[in-house]
Amino acid sequence: MIFARIAVNVPSIQGVFDYHLPAEQEGKVSAGHLVTVPFGKQTVQGVVLELTSHPMVAETKPILDVLDPLPVLTGVQIELAKQMAGSTLNPLAAIIDMMLPAGLSQQADQRFEIREQRAVEAGGQGTAIQTRILKLLTERGSLRGRQIDRHFSKVDWRKTAQTLVRSGVLTSQSVLPAPTVRPKFIRTAQLTVPIEQAEAAMPDLGKTTATLERRQAALRLLMREPDSIDVAWVYAESSCTLADLQELDERGLIVLREMEIWRDPLEKIESGEQGIENSIPLELTPDQQKAWQAIQAAFQSFSHIPPFLLHGVTGSGKTELYLRAAAETIRRGQQAIILVPEIAITPQTVRRFLFRFPGQVGLLHSRLSAGERYDTWRRARLGLLKVVIGPRSALFAPLPKVGLIVADECHDGSYYQSEPPFYHAVEAAKVYARLCGAVCILGSATPTVQQRYQAESGESLRLELPTRIQVSVNLTEQGGLPPVSVVDMREELKSGRRGIFSQPLIDGLEEVLQKKQQAILFLNRRGTATYVFCRACGAVAKCPNCDTPLTYHVEGQKSNVGPPYDIRPATFDLRCHHCGYQRKMPEKCPNCHSTQMRAYGLGSEKVEAEAKALFPSARLLRWDWETTRQKDAHEIILSHFAAQRADVLVGTQMLAKGLDLPLVTLVGIVLADVGLNLPDPFAAERTFGLLTQVAGRAGRSALGGKVVLQTFQPEHYAIQAASRHDYSEFYQRELAERRNLGYPPFSRLVRLEYRASDPVHAENEARRLAGRLSADIQTEKRIQTDLIGPVPCFFSKVGGWYRWQIVMRGPDPISLLRGKSLPDWRVEVEPVSIL
Ligand code: ADP
Ligand code: ZN
Ligand code: ZN
Repeated sequence: MIFARIAVNVPSIQGVFDYHLPAEQEGKVSAGHLVTVPFGKQTVQGVVLELTSHPMVAETKPILDVLDPLPVLTGVQIELAKQMAGSTLNPLAAIIDMMLPAGLSQQADQRFEIREQRAVEAGGQGTAIQTRILKLLTERGSLRGRQIDRHFSKVDWRKTAQTLVRSGVLTSQSVLPAPTVRPKFIRTAQLTVPIEQAEAAMPDLGKTTATLERRQAALRLLMREPDSIDVAWVYAESSCTLADLQELDERGLIVLREMEIWRDPLEKIESGEQGIENSIPLELTPDQQKAWQAIQAAFQSFSHIPPFLLHGVTGSGKTELYLRAAAETIRRGQQAIILVPEIAITPQTVRRFLFRFPGQVGLLHSRLSAGERYDTWRRARLGLLKVVIGPRSALFAPLPKVGLIVADECHDGSYYQSEPPFYHAVEAAKVYARLCGAVCILGSATPTVQQRYQAESGESLRLELPTRIQVSVNLTEQGGLPPVSVVDMREELKSGRRGIFSQPLIDGLEEVLQKKQQAILFLNRRGTATYVFCRACGAVAKCPNCDTPLTYHVEGQKSNVGPPYDIRPATFDLRCHHCGYQRKMPEKCPNCHSTQMRAYGLGSEKVEAEAKALFPSARLLRWDWETTRQKDAHEIILSHFAAQRADVLVGTQMLAKGLDLPLVTLVGIVLADVGLNLPDPFAAERTFGLLTQVAGRAGRSALGGKVVLQTFQPEHYAIQAASRHDYSEFYQRELAERRNLGYPPFSRLVRLEYRASDPVHAENEARRLAGRLSADIQTEKRIQTDLIGPVPCFFSKVGGWYRWQIVMRGPDPISLLRGKSLPDWRVEVEPVSIL
């Protein structure tokens, strides 16, 4: 007998289980197959990890069904899933579930139904949640758990439903939904007889004139078109129906067939646009040539080459190297995965790949329909696509022979999946490349401190592109990057200007508008309305115990109410999210004793409004989370701006990601300090990266350009370094800070978060676990390991849940958790932020 070791797709189940293959499935099932199996009283999906002749248990149950004749995971993907599960503490099944396209992978679910309406009525007054569940089920009949979820966004209704099941009011039954995606077929028709025979059959094709005419018209079309054609065309030309065609088929004149087609979201783009200038490989500059030699050597090497960190300023020609590496990969009969932060925000990168490799590129991203996604995934599986581009999940395209993995803008936060299963796609990419023997390139102008540190320790190989390609006009000592003028907002305030814009920024905008060029106004959204600082001297209110910025929150308050820099939260306590220290808002600045202590709060609407007031005739465009909720909003806003239908683009974080807007000659950074003062060890690095990336948007053409950076903390090293585009200055300084404070890369972090609708419950659970962990640390004498917290998270309430956290810090905190079961905790290994 043959046995299969299977990861079953049941939430919260760890481990694998053995099943046997019924005789008729032998030879049809192998590693990577998606099957259904009995599990307890349920039928569930699972993926075969391996076949074996030695089961772990004496009695096994049979595999029930094979859901796809081809494996859904390659052998290397299974290995990747195992390694990811091990390094991230996620259940293996959760990782595998994430690797499969939406709709194919299905978790078992419960179906609820009211047992007897009378019991409901007799039951009398229940809790509010009970009443809501019963009302819903009375209206809708039976519903699956995931359907009920949609009606209870912030409520744990399942516990209540189980109570109702136990008291006999509801019944529940376990169900396994069938995959919701399947191949798409079209019906085609084709003539099967010689023309003369069809001609001869014409007169008596139908009894009534109407049928006769329809069938004649259909047949005539098929006589003209010798190939199989889509029946939709026949319907349109002849107004015949399927019944008419079936009749012709019955008579043996034509044949109707079903043909599988690929749903391809790129068809329109590829056939529509012209991109000849983009399709020819460029001659490399000497810097590019040097980097390319190293990459080429890695392709030729028989032993494993560590990942490359391609460190190059914006516009230095990184993408051109990715294109070349992809071409080399294809030449070798292999496939390439190109990861980008977000498709909608990087249309230019995507287009360059489409034009360089027409017909061979697939996009995988969340805004495709399930069918398009499934078909792209299946084309990847068959090796029909040579290049797959997409955000982090594109790493899991089941390509048969991966020869290249690129992570563009590898510093970007979107590579980290901040919902379970938590993982970092750049880390996963490195592991996957090693397993595939693929060349791996991580590209960025501002790699994270950790990524840069890895290059220093030999874990990756650093390649450098220090200058912009187009340095012709804008030639400065900064490698073609635009000059940045730092404006000290404390001085502006002293001279009586209380608005958002400083005089230099106003002057700059005026000039741009007058010259009919374009400007970008950037506002860091993350961290507004949260920290408290002195408008007179720039001092930030900090915790006396741990020097972390103190923060305050106004529950439910939008970040854009009130005048800028002018919220006085008199009654609110300031809190340290590191040690829990609390205090009232200080009356006076502890540094200069002025009464100018304020919380900072500003939204992009506010920036837009003030710009409008200053420049009534300027055409403004706002690009933030609110204006981009609609489908395709990103593309519309970007193409509008690129086509110069607006003069000023006001935007948030999105502006930092790989845009190439040649007419932009001014970038205004409205307040650079925002984000710097968050209680998070990665705050400075994120802010520096953002500022540098945004500054890099200016002067990308011969028109030149400049950056105006407004700040209350001009002396901060992150702002100093960003204003000089000086990555290495920032890196050295930040590394020293991290070493002093014992943060990564000099330690590792694991973040544990507990969420509850009751804050006291969350706090109690956090305290309890912290107690247990402290005890373990003591018993095991881990003197280099400590706990930060338990404290409420910085974003203390999210979606109706109160959040508490514990951060473990030490050389190997993860090993303290192995084998512990923490089902209600969200566990993040090496998080990218601890807010
Ligand atoms: P990055 O990815 O580092 O931002 P790109 O690859 O997009 O840089 O290059 C910036 C610009 O320079 C693009 O318009 C690109 O077409 C052009 N470019 C890149 N390499 C070359 C080259 N070797 N010769 C001429 N132009 C180049
Ligand atoms: Zn002060
Ligand atoms: Zn503190």
